[in-house]
Amino acid sequence: MTIAFIGLGNMGAPMSGLLVKAGHEVRGFDVSEAARQALAEVGGIAADSLDDAIRGADVVILMLPNSDVVEKVVAESTFAPGAVIVDMSSSEPLRTRALAASLAERGIALVDAPVSGGVARARTGKLTIMTGGPQSVLDGVESILDCLGTTTRAGDVGSGHAVKALNNLLSATHLLVTSEAILAGERFGLDPTVMLSIFNSSSGRSGSTENKWPNFIQPETYDSGFGLRLMLKDMRIAVGLAAEMGTPDPLGEAATGLWGEAAEALADNADHTEIVNWLRKD
Ligand code: NAD
Repeated sequence: MTIAFIGLGNMGAPMSGLLVKAGHEVRGFDVSEAARQALAEVGGIAADSLDDAIRGADVVILMLPNSDVVEKVVAESTFAPGAVIVDMSSSEPLRTRALAASLAERGIALVDAPVSGGVARARTGKLTIMTGGPQSVLDGVESILDCLGTTTRAGDVGSGHAVKALNNLLSATHLLVTSEAILAGERFGLDPTVMLSIFNSSSGRSGSTENKWPNFIQPETYDSGFGLRLMLKDMRIAVGLAAEMGTPDPLGEAATGLWGEAAEALADNADHTEIVNWLRKD
């Protein structure tokens, strides 16, 4: 298949590389020249413009920062008749639904397929992919998604984006409270490695205790490849969704407020695992 891949950043670069490896023709576009060059180096086609990437593509994959950029790119593109757009970015579910409805009027299908697993699992094709959209359209892109990870259909269009934001609200809240617990334990005289080992065989276990603390925080590398501002964006999507649905979300709102304070205090390009440094400074 001919795939246009738009957005070749931390996630898009390894994902597009896997599609090249699987034998697809991948025409990539990113506003960053370095990102386009990196795709060319692994055998993909670095398109000079959005139009060059999208012209004649069967499938257009978007791996962009947020709904604002997704809508801008879609508005600037001319899609081939019958093309399918797969928005793998973590976008806003209600905006995704509206965008899909307006594209459907022009005979273009848009499905959502955001991912979890970070850069490490993007490199190995072991992402968790959560999809939203008609089964018949998703069937047509199944072989592509299979190169990138394991897919679960969450429901109609927008459902993947909804569950993705809710997942990250959990993940970010876990990371914050895990960090609070470990800092308190450390002051008490506990060894973080011993605490993590006990948490990991107890009920306090999470992705933060199993992965983020041992792999990015304890070695002080803070290089998960997932920006703090992107995490905050996802939390805001989740609390916005709860508000829109009229469900109570006091803890989510409080956690989002704290992550917002951290985002103001830390560098623009801070990794999300640096939240612990904001806590330490506080
Ligand atoms: P990133 O910032 O590294 O990459 C985004 C890329 O989009 C950049 O290379 C940027 O130059 C490009 N871009 C921006 N505007 C563009 C435009 N108008 N046209 C073409 N390219 C444009 O972000 P990322 O970490 O790769 O994340 C991408 C999406 O995936 C986000 O929605 C994020 O929330 C989500 N996500 C990230 C991770 C992670 O671990 N990094 C994990 C799961 C989901």
